[in-house]
Amino acid sequence: MTATIIDGKGFAAGLRERIAGHVAGLKSQHGITPGLAVVIVGEDPASQVYVASKARLTAEVGMHSVKHELPRETSQAALLQLIDELNRDDAIHGILVQMPVPDQIDPNAVINAISPEKDVDCFTPANVGKLAIGLPGPVSCTPLGCLMLLRDQLGELSGKEAVIIGRSNLVGKPLAQLLLRDNCTVTMAHSRTADLASVVKRADIVVAAAGRPNMVKGDWLKPGATVIDVGINRVPAPERGEGKTRLVGDVEFDSAADVAGAITPVPGGVGPMTIACLLANTITTASLLNGLVPPK
Ligand code: NDP
Repeated sequence: MTATIIDGKGFAAGLRERIAGHVAGLKSQHGITPGLAVVIVGEDPASQVYVASKARLTAEVGMHSVKHELPRETSQAALLQLIDELNRDDAIHGILVQMPVPDQIDPNAVINAISPEKDVDCFTPANVGKLAIGLPGPVSCTPLGCLMLLRDQLGELSGKEAVIIGRSNLVGKPLAQLLLRDNCTVTMAHSRTADLASVVKRADIVVAAAGRPNMVKGDWLKPGATVIDVGINRVPAPERGEGKTRLVGDVEFDSAADVAGAITPVPGGVGPMTIACLLANTITTASLLNGLVPPK
């Protein structure tokens, strides 16, 4: 293995420390305690673990943390009512509704109900538009985390060839906006891309966000490429015992680490950055809601 392992977990811990400093500054200089409300509907175990760790880390950086756990059969009207209350609550600066929501609820109705000023996931059309034209506002958490790791690893991104695999509203599309803003030449690949391996071969930066375990192989990569593996896939791990599983990314780690210049591990790469960026977004929205310039 020749690649540098990009330590997202360590980077995220440092970012949370800086965020704690911003929280302390907002409290002491402006009397503002940034507040984040996380809403989860239903009992999906993975989402529950994720929401619990969001709530814990929010409190750890000194923010006001509120968690609403609603039963699976919650109606759309009841959820929209709660969002409306949170929109009007001055102690709350960020609202996150954990997706996916159960079938009786239309996710677009939920997204449209969240005030864009409190939309820390950057899901609302208003914030997606702001991101596209470069106005200040929250930036989608996972793409922001990827950008931070890339800047930290490579410094200047200008002129780099970036290939993003996956074009979701959550990851691929917003990340393309961010990399364009940093003057990369961006290619977006997806399930209909012809000869994906040769598209990936020309990339200085590869971001894999397809949700396909171990799809990107080492021999697809340009030697020295920087690889950001967003994928989180649970696969059977019989070597750990009967019925056991483990997490893998979208990149076949061992073969890729022999060719890449740097690579994120799964777990411990992009995942921890996502939560830290959610907290960073809450600082941004708390600042903007109070007429302050958000910290860089
Ligand atoms: P989606 O399912 O919404 O999107 C997947 C994208 O990958 C689609 O654009 C799809 O193409 C493309 N794709 C699927 N199969 C292939 C293929 N064989 N070749 C090329 N492209 C393909 O997923 P998300 O964006 O929500 O998530 C992607 C992955 O990232 C998942 O593993 C998810 O768990 C993980 N994730 C991790 C986060 C983190 O914090 N680390 C946060 C969010 C997601 P098409 O549009 O043509 O269907």
